Order: sequence, then C-alpha cells, then structure tokens
Amino acid sequence: MELNNVLHNLKNLEAGRAALSLIDGKHAVIVQVTTKCNAKCRVCRFHPEKHDTINFEKFKTWLTQKRKQGEVLSVCINGGEPTLEHSLCRKIRALCRELGILCSLITNAWWGKNPETRMLIKNLDLFQITLSRDIYHLEYVDDKTFDASVDFIKTLNIPFPRIFCMVDVDNLYNERQITQEYFNRLQKKYKGFEVVQIPIKAKVSCDSCTGAFSDFEYCEPRLIYLAKNEEGTECCSGYVNKKDCPKKI
Ligand code: SF4
Repeated sequence: MELNNVLHNLKNLEAGRAALSLIDGKHAVIVQVTTKCNAKCRVCRFHPEKHDTINFEKFKTWLTQKRKQGEVLSVCINGGEPTLEHSLCRKIRALCRELGILCSLITNAWWGKNPETRMLIKNLDLFQITLSRDIYHLEYVDDKTFDASVDFIKTLNIPFPRIFCMVDVDNLYNERQITQEYFNRLQKKYKGFEVVQIPIKAKVSCDSCTGAFSDFEYCEPRLIYLAKNEEGTECCSGYVNKKDCPKKI
C-alpha cells in the first residue's frame, strides 16, 4: 500500500505526525520546480529577470536512484509558485506514485477561485499542503481568495494541511505582541490546519538562511536547478550577495 494511503487512513493525527517525523530532513527533499511566481513578496528572493524551471528528466534520474538507495521518502513541490507549472507538478506526482514516495506542496494559495488549478491540487493527491499567509503574502493574495483555497482544501481530506506564517526575527521583539495575536487569530480561524511560524531575516532574503529554518534540508534537486543557473552557487541562489549571509556559508 502506498504510504499516502496509510496516512489518509490515520485516525489519530498525533500518531500521523509522529510517523511523519521519521521523514526528516534527510529523507525529505524540496523541489523548486520554478522560479516563476505571480506574487512579489518583499522578503522573497525569487524575483529573477529570467524565469527558470527544473529539468524533469535530470530530476527523475536523481530521484529514482535515491529511492533505490532508500534515501528519499517524501518530495515537497515548491517554487516560486509551483501551481503555475501544471504539467511539471503532474509529472512529479506521477513519478512519486511510481516510486512509492509521498508528495506535498507549498503554495501561496492564489488559486482559491481558479477551477483548473483547484482540479490540479485535487488530482495531486497530496499528503500535506502548505499555504503561505502573512503580511508579505497578503499584499498579493487577498483574504477572500486565501479563504476560498482553505475551503477547497477542507473538501479534499489532505491529512496534514498547514499554514506558514513568516515572522521577521529582527522585528520579533518590537512586534512580539502583534505577532502572537496574529498567530492566535490564525489558529482560531483555520481549525484543522497546523499554523507554523517561520522565522526569517527579512533584510537578508537568502535561500541559505531561510532554508536553515525550515523543516527540510535543501538537497540535490535544488542543485540540479542551480546547475542550470550559472549565476548560482551551491549555497546561495545568486540573487543575494553571499557575504550578506548571516550564516557565512
Ligand atoms: S509567493 Fe512565495 S515564491 Fe512567490 S514571491 Fe512570495 S515568497 Fe516568493
């Protein structure tokens, strides 16, 4: 039975979360399928002049090999905004199904009222979906659209829906109260969704440091993308000066 089916059948969410924790950074990879996005969040690094998408055939070879070695249990489809690339998302999902790998997706939830993309989300049969919602994303995806996406997700029986809320660590003390109140409001409003605060350094929108705070490790699929981008390096996507990175990678 595909692991996805097991998760869908889990009655106890806590047990499910425990099972998911086995899929740690080492076994979960994020695939940044595209740098294209329909938003332009202030804290985001993905505002390149030229958009790029992952090379699916290279990714397929890499993933198949990693799966044989037992190294990858879940793939998270990310971008940019991955739902702008329907065909790629479908191909990656089909590959994961073939290899018995779980599939999740991170999105800015712009598609709440868009029938084609809603259908795409439905057919991806995800074990987890993460919607980004914070002051930065709200400048591009309004409340009503976001809520339409949430309502749609509720009809899909996705085991682990989440909302990511970016918080600027440099402003955490000044805005602590506001942040906590906002967080509480989100939890109350979006019952059934796990709300996760993502600490970021808004002044340094570097992939290396934002990635370091996430649940997952950036891994070779990212490097496949970077291999296509001659401006990029292993650690830094090239849109920010490496010397600015607080981690000094
Ligand atoms: S929605 Fe995500 S990828 Fe798009 S600009 Fe905002 S943070 Fe960047």
